[in-house]
Parts: sequence; structure tokens; C-alpha cells
Amino acid sequence: MALVNLKNICKTYDNKKLVIDNLSFTVDNNDFFVLIGASGSGKTTILNLIAGLEDINSGEIYINDVLSNNIEPKDRDIAMVFQNYALYPHMTVFENLAFALRNKKENKKEIKNRVVEIAEKLRIDKLLDRKPAQLSGGQKQRVAIGRAIVRNPKIFLMDEPLSNLDVVLRNQLRKELKQLHKDFNATIIYVTHDQIEALSLATKIMVLKDGHIEQIGTPIEIFENPQNQFVAQFLGTPKMNIINNLNINYKNNKKFINIFNQEIELPNIISKPQTINLGIRPENFIVCNKKSDIGTRVSIKYAELIGSEYIIYSKMEYKNNIYQIVFNI
Ligand code: ADP
Repeated sequence: MALVNLKNICKTYDNKKLVIDNLSFTVDNNDFFVLIGASGSGKTTILNLIAGLEDINSGEIYINDVLSNNIEPKDRDIAMVFQNYALYPHMTVFENLAFALRNKKENKKEIKNRVVEIAEKLRIDKLLDRKPAQLSGGQKQRVAIGRAIVRNPKIFLMDEPLSNLDVVLRNQLRKELKQLHKDFNATIIYVTHDQIEALSLATKIMVLKDGHIEQIGTPIEIFENPQNQFVAQFLGTPKMNIINNLNINYKNNKKFINIFNQEIELPNIISKPQTINLGIRPENFIVCNKKSDIGTRVSIKYAELIGSEYIIYSKMEYKNNIYQIVFNI
């Protein structure tokens, strides 16, 4: 079921350039929907439009099939988690978690049970008497997530919630977020510029560029079948090699290119262009034995050890052009 449905949304901040340009997409119930794109591509703006914190210029936002353009943020049944935690500094962890429930005048005993239940799940149950200043970054972010969960909202909007944490904590909290998504059957719309977070957390990824959608799909679809060169190079580290303008030879209705001393048949999915750009992921190269007559020589510029493998930065000469080739061994 589509829980959030954006139709032809446009947004400008200064009545000049559209930062969101005729954007349409749907988020289904239980999706972990990740928006990824470079800084300035419009990710936070989209979250703010869904939350009602910014007005849209044109288009429609439906939440649970209800046209929500004019519904106040507080009435949209949405909880937000930000990069900078946004906790009340003068309140204890317990009070921070209980705040929204107390505002709703819920029964004291039920509030306590709910807060303790969530705190145990997030492993902050031993910290309930502390104030935010007495917590580490990871603990603060757990409280912020708990404060969102406690209200049992229909939708969670998360804006780079892990980006202020160090690598170890980020990896740990990433796993916990995935578990929380399962445990609470939550619907999460999540902004990041970190491709590992996008690939590992998402049920669906939307790749954005300059306020436009480049592709929406599952992580595997996006990684294995990118729809264009931007998406192909955006996800994957090191990024995909592109060898531009290779001539296509047509023989018996089949298409071939010559490269690396091989003739490679192309899949029959493109029309009749004269040239193609060939994309090869660094991990798909293999080092061949010296006597092999396939393959090509490259000159190595430098190598980076990244644990179990090296990333090799090399140069290849081909038909008087020089290509930079990066591969893993
Ligand atoms: P992202 O989250 O992908 O980094 P944003 O949604 O924050 O991108 O910004 C998209 C574009 O809108 C950027 O060009 C940014 O400078 C502009 N922008 C964002 N917020 C405002 C604002 N309050 N006033 C004017 N321009 C803004």
C-alpha cells in the first residue's frame, strides 16, 4: 500500500531555480526508502516537504491516501530524526522519551512501560536518569531514535542520522536500525549520501541529481542494472571505470566491440549507435597470466591496501588514447 505518494512536486526557495523539479514517487508501507544523492541534490528538501516543514509550490502530497498539502506538520503522524539529535538538554533520557506521550496526556503507568520497553530495545535502559550532556554521540542518537519510536508514528523521516558518529558506532547503529525496521514494521524515509548505508539498509533506493530522480529500485537493481552512467558511477567504490566512444562493429545482426585484445559481443539491448561507452566495475577485472593472449597491459601508478585487497590505480593506452583504470586485486 502506498503510504506516501508525491505527485508532480515542484519546489523553489526564491522563485527562481527549481530545487525539486516535477518529482513523483511512492513509498509503500514497511519500505526502508533511502534518498541518496550529492550534497545539494534536494534530499533534505524532500523530507521537509513530506513533514510539512516547507510549503510546496505545486503538486500533491498524499499520506495514507489523504491529500496532505495543507495538513499541519503535527497532524501528519510523522516523526523526524536528525543528524544533530535535537534532544531537550534540561530533561533526562526518560523525560525526553516520555515527552510526546505526556503531551498526549497518556496514563503514567503506560508511559513508563512504553519508555522502558523502547529503552531496552535500544540498549539505553541503564541511562534513563542521565541528561543528554552525559551521553556519548551514539547514545544521544539512540535516544533521538527512541523518542521517534515511542510515539508509534506511521512514518519515520531520518536525515543523515548516523553521519555525526565515528565509523565503529556508525556500523553498529546501522545494524540496529535495520533490526528496528523489522521489529517495529516501520516505514522509514531515510536521507544519506553514504552509499554503504543506502545499499545495506534500503528496501528501495531513489538516486537524486539536481532535484531529479535518476533511478528508483531495490539496492540490487540499482547496483546491477543502473539506468544511466550517473547512477552506474554514483554507487560502488572505487567507482565504475568508463571507457568512452568505443566503435561498434556490426556482423550478422550482432554487435561487437574490440577491447583488451578481445572481441566482445554486446547484449542486444541498444539500438544502432556508432559508439558506446563501456562501464566496468573495478572488482570485475582479473589479472591474467603472462602468456595469455587476451587482456591488456596497464602501467601501475600506485596501489592502496584496503585490508583484504588492493585498489590499483593504473593507466592503459588504447588506440592512441590514455585511460585511467582502477581495479581491485
Ligand atoms: P541535500 O539535502 O541533498 O544536500 P537540500 O535539499 O538541502 O539538498 O538543498 C537543495 C537545494 O536547495 C540546494 O541548492 C540548497 O542550496 C537549496 N536550499 C535548501 N534550503 C534552502 C533554503 N532554506 N533557502 C534557500 N535555498 C535552500
